[in-house]
Amino acid sequence: MAEYLELNFCPQCGGPLQDREAYGRVRRYCPACDRIIFRDPKVAAAVLVEKDGKVLLVRRAFGPFKGRWSLPAGFVEYDEEPASTAVRECQEETGLEIRLTGLLDVLPGEGLPGEANFTVVYQGEVVGGTMRAGDDAGAAGFFHPDELPPLAFASTRQALERWRKGHYR
Ligand SMILES: [Zn+2]
Repeated sequence: MAEYLELNFCPQCGGPLQDREAYGRVRRYCPACDRIIFRDPKVAAAVLVEKDGKVLLVRRAFGPFKGRWSLPAGFVEYDEEPASTAVRECQEETGLEIRLTGLLDVLPGEGLPGEANFTVVYQGEVVGGTMRAGDDAGAAGFFHPDELPPLAFASTRQALERWRKGHYR
């Protein structure tokens, strides 16, 4: 079930927010700033790195889905391009330097707390570095499509399903 925390205070002045009809739906409004507060989706970027028919996954060291595996991924910073996020997160989580070779998909989340609203999935190849789990990944490794570990996130499950079926070739 999608669950979105309500905003109660203005991020600009700290004053209490009200509801107001604007641009076709009820939105939060700050009377002090005379400003509509738009809720923006959380965006993540992930990378699918394939080597010898296997896919690179990382085991999550923290919740949500702690202990489950996902594509190397992370939230896009507000001032960052998603392609840079994918390269950066892969380096931080696996130690591997990658080069992006394509854009594979844009996949929705399930509205879970701590999950991105949608994930931009790139394709990448390893160009350097040494595999070592780091940052918020407890482990990293390459997995055959028939021997995938327990997966985190709808986006990872869907991307791997499409990859297995050959949709990304
Ligand atoms: Zn305000």
